[in-house]
Formats: sequence, structure tokens, C-alpha cells
Amino acid sequence: MDLLEYQGKQLFAKYAIPVSDGKAVTDVQSAVDAANEIGYPVVIKAQVLVGGRGKAGGVKLATNEDEAREHATSILGLDIKGHVVEILWVEHASDIAEEYYASFTLDRAAKKHLGMLSAQGGVEIEVVAEENPDAISKIWIDPYIGLTKEQCVAWVDGAQLNPKARDGAVDILLKLYDVYVQGDCDLAEINPLILTPEGNVHALDAKVTLDENAQFRHEDWAEYESTQILDARELMAKEKGLNYIGLDGEIGIIGNGAGLVMSTLDIVNQVEGRPANFLDVGGGADADLLANAIEVVNSDENVKAIFLNIFGGITKCDDVANGVVQATSKVELKSPIVVRLDGTNVDQGRAILEANPNPKVVVASTMLDAAREAVRLSK
Ligand code: GDP
Ligand code: MN
Repeated sequence: MDLLEYQGKQLFAKYAIPVSDGKAVTDVQSAVDAANEIGYPVVIKAQVLVGGRGKAGGVKLATNEDEAREHATSILGLDIKGHVVEILWVEHASDIAEEYYASFTLDRAAKKHLGMLSAQGGVEIEVVAEENPDAISKIWIDPYIGLTKEQCVAWVDGAQLNPKARDGAVDILLKLYDVYVQGDCDLAEINPLILTPEGNVHALDAKVTLDENAQFRHEDWAEYESTQILDARELMAKEKGLNYIGLDGEIGIIGNGAGLVMSTLDIVNQVEGRPANFLDVGGGADADLLANAIEVVNSDENVKAIFLNIFGGITKCDDVANGVVQATSKVELKSPIVVRLDGTNVDQGRAILEANPNPKVVVASTMLDAAREAVRLSK
């Protein structure tokens, strides 16, 4: 779960990381009132779950009430990479001498936490990594030991920040590590972490991703639910009790068992198709459940063909075939379904499909054939 910048900053503030005072608002007048209360200059910032807001016109400085009104008006409703701005964060503007980058994330391959720090902040870290990888100072932290002060100091020295920023950066990074670990974050990032002309170090942006597996430990996470962008497809699937994850391709995928569904995604990719989703109907999928699954995938606007891949074990192919017949009589299919059945009662299953022909239902005998057929039909 991703947090909006202001939520991330409020989380940072709980760990005494210096952030600017501000206010989250949803209309122009409240933004102006907040700006007047905070005192000028202020910065007005679009709260959307996407980076690069500055470049997109979603971050603006205002030195008086008229400018605050003007900027709040222009940013509210702005479309930033498909995210429409509904919330503004107004905070006291900071003077910037230098902009740095800092983050913690998990390096799964190393089985350690990874800290990244760069004197080249304010720009996207991917660009720095691409063009000037030596400008990123990395440390790997043993989770059982944690980030020690000595390690942190050496890390900061390695990043060659302005010496004036050294102590402030060490202090903030130690706290940010606590946010990351105690807060069960997948990512805790500050970009830019700034040095002010007065020599203070300060977090000017916050990007936090929470590990939803840890939700049971954090009652306070409930407050973030209202600002989450929910994928309409995922919501529909959740209501129907399906194990669904939205992706952005054109081939709708339904299978039984997470392993089979993952293999199905792989094989679709192998034949140069792009999966629209992951959907596992589970071990004992009955006709109703399958009908629901087809309904959810069929409702996805991007889907041009559906690949239903069932290996009958506990699940019986005749039940699945009945589910297909039931669903296709109930739901108006907008794209063809390629069905691959194998395993328990496969002959009965195929017989049911043959006895109930539907021009939109195509039966394939192997996974590879089915994947190719689905990709061909999606074109
Ligand atoms: P992002 O573009 O979505 O990452 O949004 P940021 O919060 O990082 O803001 C983008 C840029 O706006 C920063 O890199 C700064 O250069 C600038 N900016 C943001 N807040 C302030 C501020 O308080 N004062 C000044 N002078 N610039 C700011
Ligand atoms: Mn930023």
C-alpha cells in the first residue's frame, strides 16, 4: 500500500524526522486559508500516488494569497499521469541549498535491507542509477543487527554530501531506518532530502510503501484506506471472493492454483502476449465461482481474449465446463475464451462444451496451443 506524501510526512514526524508543517485540503478556499495560517511563502503540492509531480506542474510556490489561490486552482483537478488531483498539501516553503536522495528498501537477493544515498537528489533515482551509478552510495544492512551509527556515518561519508549536512543526514537516516523497520515499510524514501542555507537537513518529500502483510500489526493503517486508489476490477473480484491481481495487458487469465496461474502468465509472455491479470479460482472451483471469475475478467475493458487454464485434480473438468456454459449464458462475452482443460473428468468436460457450442468459446488441447490461440484472437 502506497502512502500519499503528506501521510508519509506525518509518519516521519512521529519518528522526529524534520518535515515542514502543513495541511491537507480538498478545495481552493481551504488551501488559501491554510496558506494564510501557515505563513508565506508556501508550497502547494498535488497529493497523488505517482512521482514526478514537480515536472507535471503539481508542485508550486506561492508568496501571497493571490498566488496561493491561483496555484490551488490550477493543481486541483490536474491530471498527472492518469491520477486526478483531489487532495492538496500546503506547507511552509523551504529554502534549498542542496537536494539529496535517501531510501531504504529490501534487497531480496542479498537477504538484507538496502540503503541508498546520493548527493544528486531531486531527480528520479532511476536516472541517476542509469547515467551516474557511482553517485549512489549503497549499504546493505543485516536485519538482525540493524543500522548502527558507525555504519550510517561511513555510508554518509561515502555519499560525499556537503560536510554541513553530515550530522543532520546521519540523524535522519537512523530515524528513517526505524520508520522503515518498525513501520513495516517495503520502501521509505526521501527525495529530495534537503540541506537548507542555514545548514539544516530536512525531508521535503516522502514516499512510503507499506507491506500489507503486516496490516494486522497496525490498526492505524485503517486511516489510509480512504485515500487508496482501488482498482475497480480488484474491488469486484474481492466482493466475489476471488484471488485477483490486476495487470495491464490484453489477455485475461483464469486458472486453478497459484502455480498454474503463474505458469500461465509465463507462457502467455513467452508467446508475446501480455496478461491483463492474475486470477486463481483455487483448488475446488465450482461452477458459480468460475462464472464469477469469467464475469470479472470479461468486465476488464483492456481484455481482448481470455485464457481459461484448468488442470483438474480436486477440481473436476466437467464442473468447470458447466461453469463456462453457465457464465457464457449469463454474461455477454465481449471477447473470446480459449479453454484448456486437462486432468480429472477431462472427457466429460470437453463433451459438455461440445454439447453447448458457443462461437466465443474455443477449446485448445495444450497450454502452449491455448496461449498462442488467445494471443492470436486478441489481435
Ligand atoms: P515530486 O516531483 O513528485 O518528486 O515532488 P517533490 O515533493 O519532490 O517536489 C519536486 C521539487 O519541487 C523538489 O525537488 C524541489 O526542487 C521543489 N520543491 C518542493 N518543495 C519545495 C520547497 O519547499 N521549496 C522550494 N524552493 N522548492 C521546493
Ligand atoms: Mn520527490
